[in-house]
Amino acid sequence: MTIDFRSDTFTRPTTGMMQAMTNAATGDDVFGEDPSVNRLEAMMADYFGKEAALYCPSGTMSNQIAIKVHTQPGDEVICSSLAHVYIYEGGGIAFNAGAQVRAIEGERGMITAEQVAAAINPDDVHKASTSLVCLENTSNRGGGCMYDIEEIKRIKTVCQDNHLKLHLDGARLFNALVAGGDNPKIYGKLFDSISVCLNKGMGCPMGSVLLGSAAYIKAARRIRKKLGGGLRQAGFMAATGIYAMEHHIARLAEDHYHAKQIAKALLEKSFIGHMLPVETNILIFEVLGDWTPKFFADYLKKHDILVMPISENQVRIVTHLDVTPAMIEKTCAAIAEMQ
Ligand SMILES: *Cc1c(COP(=O)(O)O)cnc(C)c1O
Repeated sequence: MTIDFRSDTFTRPTTGMMQAMTNAATGDDVFGEDPSVNRLEAMMADYFGKEAALYCPSGTMSNQIAIKVHTQPGDEVICSSLAHVYIYEGGGIAFNAGAQVRAIEGERGMITAEQVAAAINPDDVHKASTSLVCLENTSNRGGGCMYDIEEIKRIKTVCQDNHLKLHLDGARLFNALVAGGDNPKIYGKLFDSISVCLNKGMGCPMGSVLLGSAAYIKAARRIRKKLGGGLRQAGFMAATGIYAMEHHIARLAEDHYHAKQIAKALLEKSFIGHMLPVETNILIFEVLGDWTPKFFADYLKKHDILVMPISENQVRIVTHLDVTPAMIEKTCAAIAEMQ
């Protein structure tokens, strides 16, 4: 059986999840009448201590809706130069919101309160109005690293002092919560809006949820419709989200343990260069000398193990729900044989 470490988006629904899907109560969600969607939204809002939530087809759509609702065309959005909203959403901030980005050179996709404060434009007609700060936790391109909640609190203070909104791209927020042990309601308090993905570590076939105040989510619902994201019997998919909320959060710790086991096997090898510290379920490391990323990936592919070269000298491995302890054992053995 193929072991797929390319992304945590490659998971297949489990038997329990399939059952939840086929048994789902549904209705027309564009009319607000899908009981499973309504339940998932209420569950998520409650979990993060937010007033309301909106089920969206993808994390990209929830981020884009979030940014559109927070900004006016011509505004400036502050984020890390490695932020998903900036580098992996097809230029969506410009396309959907007509806003521009002030990209900050952070540390592994994370930025500081001082950097945010320094990037805010003065009230000057020459300058774009800074209106929004976007953080990402965990940081995808930063190798699944996590913010210290104290830094987020400092960033929040800067935002409040300067009348800026604060959005969190929490595609992998559940990984951060499990690894860091913070109360999800603290995140709800600190951020004006949060998008969380269900299609990553949570193991659902699709879906993301955007969280915010009741008024904010009402505006977001209109944008979702404009983008074509109003789905009818979405309850079949929302049911997978409810199932994941009930069964797939605590188990993320296992994915984190698996990532550390692979890291240990890799670090035995002389051709493995710098590896970003492994904090959750993502490993990003350099492959040196004759072992180019492509050569490394091709070698493992012969063992039916898939990994992803992500730059001239880096490879990414992501652990997830469909990776078993036996698969980790097989992978570590294959790595041990490399020379
Ligand atoms: C995957 C991801 C998204 C978007 O998710 P899709 O559902 O694939 O559109 C957003 N932000 C981050 C950090 C991600 O890793």
